[in-house]
Amino acid sequence: MSGESQSSAPGPCVLLKHGEVFLKGRNRHLFVERLHDNLRVALRGVGGSTWIKTAQNVTVLGGQVPVATLVERARRVIGFNSVAPAVRVPSTLEAVTAAAVDALAGVLAERPVRGFAVRVKQRDKQFPLTSSRMEAHLGGQLLRALAVNLSMPDVTLTVEIDRKETYLSWERHPGLSGLPVGSSGRALVLLSGGYDSPVAAHRAMRRGLACDFVHFNGAPYTNPSSVYKAYALARELNRCQPPGALHVIALGKAQKQLAVAGAGRLQVVAQRRLMVRTASALAARIGAQALVTGDSLGQVASQTLANLAAVDEAASLPVLRPLIGWVKQEIIDEARTIGTADISVLPDEDCCTLLAPPRVTTRARLPQVRAVERRLELDELIESLLAGAQVLRPGEEAQTPEAEVPVGEASCPVAG
Ligand code: ATP
Ligand code: MG
Repeated sequence: MSGESQSSAPGPCVLLKHGEVFLKGRNRHLFVERLHDNLRVALRGVGGSTWIKTAQNVTVLGGQVPVATLVERARRVIGFNSVAPAVRVPSTLEAVTAAAVDALAGVLAERPVRGFAVRVKQRDKQFPLTSSRMEAHLGGQLLRALAVNLSMPDVTLTVEIDRKETYLSWERHPGLSGLPVGSSGRALVLLSGGYDSPVAAHRAMRRGLACDFVHFNGAPYTNPSSVYKAYALARELNRCQPPGALHVIALGKAQKQLAVAGAGRLQVVAQRRLMVRTASALAARIGAQALVTGDSLGQVASQTLANLAAVDEAASLPVLRPLIGWVKQEIIDEARTIGTADISVLPDEDCCTLLAPPRVTTRARLPQVRAVERRLELDELIESLLAGAQVLRPGEEAQTPEAEVPVGEASCPVAG
């Protein structure tokens, strides 16, 4: 990574438009630094040197790496509104005109084009032509050189003129937008194998939370299939952030203790309370300031207002629920978009169904839940759950392309 010398040579690059960072006031530079740190992490293992520099509200990325690779890595970074492959030339009339003709000749050689439009933006007003005169100039040159149609455009050439350099782009991919991961602090996501919690995690990350994950499985009474899923999900989510850890906690014996203590119809709420208590203690150890769950109000019996309140009462940190107002179909659609749906759909043995009573209460009453909990040594129990936790690092092995591993059992380094 480096090189003002490299970064000053004309050639291909990638333009990254800043998202909400753009709206920040005096401490905007801190957000931009965070964004660039995250970009550097996403670029690890690309197989060549890269450089990053900031123009106004834009990050320019380049290096001795194919632009397609840079685009693919940059699109994973939360906080950019768009990602556009581009060409960089010195800000002179001749250089920009020649580059515009070259660029559009390249597009025409690749595919049929109905018409072109030219849009000029000047961030530096010292350029000899105004934006509209430059648009007219470039349009005329393109017409002459390439005989292109300038009405009904289906390709727009965007020309952004800075003081020293001008960037030309004609293709733009949407970025993940939002706030740079880490700029809002750190959270611990309760990650099950379902559709909801990974989508909730992704939303939390887009609000600037760096996420670690905790997954509870039913061991020793269930097989490890849910752990494989949680691992694959965390790895997918970690593509969009500096990788967070996955803590796996075997809850089966504790679940049995709750059943023996007479939880009955309160079993699911009591388990959920134990999960957030344990997660709160874990969060304190790893420096996370909030918990995140995939709850959506009323989706299942355990997610009624009364039951969510009973769960909150057991947490010692704020419980964030990004999906509280989402409809299930919206969640599944979003899971497809972010790439977690194919993992969530796989079958597993979920700890929540283990020992679930035939009818679950929709209105947990705190005195009754507390009465059950008093029959357990909660502090000791939580201590032993944490002592037995397994810490995995999903995604760290995938920083180099050759180490990419497919989803599935073989990819999880967890003993069955
Ligand atoms: P999901 O699709 O995320 O599994 P769900 O619709 O199955 O959610 P619940 O099973 O009621 O709903 O779980 C609600 C939330 O509680 C989950 O979104 C998740 O944040 C947390 N949770 C549930 N089970 C586990 C688990 N085994 N490990 C960690 N967190 C869990
Ligand atoms: Mg679930």
